[in-house]
Amino acid sequence: MDISFSAEHEAFRDEVKEFLSSALTDELKQAAAFCPGIFLDYEHNMAWHKILYQQGWVAPAWPEEYGGTGWDLMQQYIWTTETSLAGTPSTAPMGLGMCGPMLIGHGTAAQKDYYLPRILSGEDYWCQGYSEPASGSDLASLQLKATSDGDHLVLNGSKIWTTHAHYANRMFILVRTDDSGKPQQGITFLLLDMDLPGISVEPILFASDTHEVNQVFFDNVRVPKKNIVGEENQGWTVAKYLLEFERGGGGAARFGIGLQRLRRLAEQTNVGGQKLVDDEDFKNKLNETGVKIDALQFTEFRIMAQISKGGSPGPESSIMKTLSADMGQYLSELMVEALAFYASPHQPEAREVGQNTPAIGPAAGVAAFPRYFNYRASSIAGGSNEVQRNIVAKLVLGL
Ligand SMILES: Cc1cc2nc3c(=O)[nH]c(=O)nc-3n(C[C@H](O)[C@H](O)[C@H](O)COP(=O)(O)OP(=O)(O)OC[C@H]3O[C@@H](n4cnc5c(N)ncnc54)[C@H](O)[C@@H]3O)c2cc1C
Repeated sequence: MDISFSAEHEAFRDEVKEFLSSALTDELKQAAAFCPGIFLDYEHNMAWHKILYQQGWVAPAWPEEYGGTGWDLMQQYIWTTETSLAGTPSTAPMGLGMCGPMLIGHGTAAQKDYYLPRILSGEDYWCQGYSEPASGSDLASLQLKATSDGDHLVLNGSKIWTTHAHYANRMFILVRTDDSGKPQQGITFLLLDMDLPGISVEPILFASDTHEVNQVFFDNVRVPKKNIVGEENQGWTVAKYLLEFERGGGGAARFGIGLQRLRRLAEQTNVGGQKLVDDEDFKNKLNETGVKIDALQFTEFRIMAQISKGGSPGPESSIMKTLSADMGQYLSELMVEALAFYASPHQPEAREVGQNTPAIGPAAGVAAFPRYFNYRASSIAGGSNEVQRNIVAKLVLGL
């Protein structure tokens, strides 16, 4: 595997840096730096999305024919690294990272023509209707019932943990159209509008004081059958394909930046007459984390090399999902440890963009504890770590 950068790639890096230095406003940087969770608030998320869309760079991983950048994997890697270094907000993954690639792989020509441009422009904001109150890890047991009525399906039941359903105008959803066979059979993949009569969205609040997820109820909701993706009763194949995109993704570059920030904070923090960065125990933790991030980086390169030979991310994406969840959580723990009592004050007003309320203690303390709580969810969301390890054991290691 050759991981050196060609002159063309270095020129591309310069182009990206130049764009970021002019396009990334202080407000967006602040929104990203003080974001208390994994998901940025809708307003700043969409503001950044639209800037990227205007530049033609909103979908770095999509093929050019569908409005993506057509960048090769090295260019995508450079993009991820430079945006991490610059401290940009992230974009919401449900449309660009999940629904779009899924439609490119399995949608009809009409579905692609209609939905893909709207995902790119930000006109449509998607949420994911997979989990149900009694179906999470065992997703194939889902029960939200869809009954056929002419050229419509009529939906009754509920979905839970639906991220940003309160902002979304569209949902991709798994419904039960037949329960006579194995659980995986009889599931249908549908696209629906969130303003259909009979849909209601109830908030679920987090310990981190954020509203990201919801429970969504369906009471006789009529969805046209033309919104089925793939074949009726064959939605499981489409659902699994989409999950490979949800679970993949890089992250080592962003973690590397997180570690740098942590190291800088430890250099500025005095504990018992010495700098925290010189404390043997904390120094070891920082160094071990650096080694783990390097290992994560090389795993990411290996998966990139595999994707470059063609195809989707494959079950290996479960490796990245688990390692990334663990690393995000660990960095948030180390941040709380480094800040000590300065992590404790509840200061949401100091996190507001454009505020002039000074932080109590180091600025990093403003988001540290909410982020620590919020990141607990990352080893559950998108499929729990235990379930990802089962997938790796079976489908990657063949155990
Ligand atoms: C922040 C957040 C955002 C989310 N966003 C969405 C969303 O937008 N859309 C959506 O559809 N869902 C979403 N989810 C739901 C998420 O996909 C589920 O929470 C997840 O799949 C786990 O399901 P569960 O919560 O039902 O837990 P369960 O499946 O009940 O699992 C409980 C525990 O048992 C363990 N376990 C279960 N089965 C096995 C097994 N076979 N082997 C070993 N251990 C096992 C699990 O690892 C877990 O620790 C979100 C969840 C969170 C926390």
